[in-house]
Amino acid sequence: MTALEVRDLHKSYGELDALRGVSFSVAAGEVFGLLGPNGAGKTTTVEILEGYRKRDGGEASVLGEDPGTAGAAWRERIGVVLQASDLPPTLTVREVHEMFAGYYAQPRNVAEVIDLVGLGEKSEARVKTLSGGQKRRLDLGVALVGDPELLFLDEPTTGFDPSARRAAWDVVRSLRELGKTILLTTHYLDEAQQLADRVAVIRDGRIVRQGSPAELIAGTPKVQIRYREDGRDVVVETDEPTRVLAELTGTAAAAGRELEGLEVVRPSLEDVYLDLVENGAPAP
Ligand code: ATP
Repeated sequence: MTALEVRDLHKSYGELDALRGVSFSVAAGEVFGLLGPNGAGKTTTVEILEGYRKRDGGEASVLGEDPGTAGAAWRERIGVVLQASDLPPTLTVREVHEMFAGYYAQPRNVAEVIDLVGLGEKSEARVKTLSGGQKRRLDLGVALVGDPELLFLDEPTTGFDPSARRAAWDVVRSLRELGKTILLTTHYLDEAQQLADRVAVIRDGRIVRQGSPAELIAGTPKVQIRYREDGRDVVVETDEPTRVLAELTGTAAAAGRELEGLEVVRPSLEDVYLDLVENGAPAP
């Protein structure tokens, strides 16, 4: 079942064509990552899908409705975590969750949500006393209170320390296990590689590549073989790692030499991404 679909989405701000024909679809229960450099058009796309911004052209369907015209019942089925939020500073973490729970017909249990986002010990702390990372967790908690089917996470772990990031990843994974659909934008490629079933890379308002992280990585032939020889680091880039490695190891073994520090390194999603956005690799 498709949770979300856009076809040929267009959006201009005056002279600037921010979206020039964006198309993708996200299946129910999938975690989909939208990647791209600053200004590529990710937030514009997400805000159109959230119903916060009008599109100029193309089609959009979110949980079976057009986000441009969908009403309050539809909004209850989606959760949104914005890049920056403005929650009442003098309320406590629990009070903020309770306030949002009041907006929904069937909210989740507030204490459970607070625990899920790792704020159990801060339940009675006022918003203004929270650290930046804790505020982001609060944003996530608020988005989860309505028990949404579909969650929009816009750069959800920006400013998190490494352990908070891992904790947030666990939250996303547990939401996925609950069958939620998640549209994630992030600048952390390791985050996308860890969490997303599929990603789309957007550049200058167009999608230049989409697929699972593994597919994107497999699509780049280059593998690095690294070792040390005579005190120097040697790096061989090849699209035939088996043959090159056999030759190297064969020659070294025949000479009774050890290839010091030998490793075969596959490119990461970040390498593939940088290649796409910096070298302008053409869309397939
Ligand atoms: P970032 O990674 O920095 O969040 P993004 O991919 O989310 O970037 P968008 O915020 O969608 O990018 O912006 C796409 C382009 O549209 C940018 O060039 C931006 O300057 C422009 N833009 C976005 N919102 C507006 C607006 N309200 N008015 C005018 N131009 C805008």
